Amino acid sequence: MSRVNTVLGAIPAEELGIVAVHEHIGYGMPGSELDSRWWKTPEERYEETVPKLRAFHEYGGGTFVDATGICNGRDVDYYASLSAKTGVHIVACTGFVGGDTALPFFARASVEYLAQQFIHEITVGIGDTRRRAGVIKVGVSRGGRMTDLDKRIYRAAARAALRTGVPILTHLAIDAETAIAIFGEEGLPLDRVLFGHADDGVNAQKTRDTWIAERGGRVGFDTFGYETELEDPPFWARPRKERLDHFLRFIEQHPDKALASADANCSPLGWPGVKGHTVNYIFEDLIPDLRSAGVGEALITRLFVDNPADFLTIKN
Ligand SMILES: [Zn+2]
Repeated sequence: MSRVNTVLGAIPAEELGIVAVHEHIGYGMPGSELDSRWWKTPEERYEETVPKLRAFHEYGGGTFVDATGICNGRDVDYYASLSAKTGVHIVACTGFVGGDTALPFFARASVEYLAQQFIHEITVGIGDTRRRAGVIKVGVSRGGRMTDLDKRIYRAAARAALRTGVPILTHLAIDAETAIAIFGEEGLPLDRVLFGHADDGVNAQKTRDTWIAERGGRVGFDTFGYETELEDPPFWARPRKERLDHFLRFIEQHPDKALASADANCSPLGWPGVKGHTVNYIFEDLIPDLRSAGVGEALITRLFVDNPADFLTIKN
């Protein structure tokens, strides 16, 4: 049977429903919990988060993939309580957003140590929670090229993906030649990898999305909602129409390789965060925009239900 690990246990992939494949319950840089200026109480985070997940559920959303790695405020017992409260399946990740957010303990670890860490979190559980990760996060550090640590993390993730059947989700799809070489050396088929943030304003021009898809990789247009039209847009924002047109061009060529999400924070940790959109951008803006552009219901189902289910299914 096809299975996906959620924070409340494994479920059949057919039960995922509409998936937001790259989101955050709460993301913070390592050490943000020490910043007394911005830190929120658990009650404040909860109050900020529950209405967003409730709305997601009411819109017809089934599954929320939390792409918050080790060291960035991941809290799976908290996610489990949110999932039980709202009825939204939550998939947690193991791994790191990038080498530059791995604390020194992990930054100095060997490839095999990191692989064992990821495997433990996927097969036994995260810490002593017995809640299992359903996806492995890796990423490219700031600077545009994979660092030596990024490469070690990618290699460890490839080994953990092969041994557990859980897929890999990347932060940034730049320097994809280096990533694909590592996955190739480890023997990991590229349909087990979602190369994320192919659509953001900083990296879209440098991302070889069709080249990745032609090699079998999946491509994430997963920063929908970070628009230059926002009142105070982040540096990775992009004009709304430009991103949508980019996505429409891609799905015409590679509908099976495309995934979309909003990369929004329900309640950012330790800093005020970007204001302006939530995971529900998918229902309030993106799906209506796709329909207006003539995208049919069958393709919408493929993008938000079938493609993520195939990606997230544990494949041994
Ligand atoms: Zn993210």
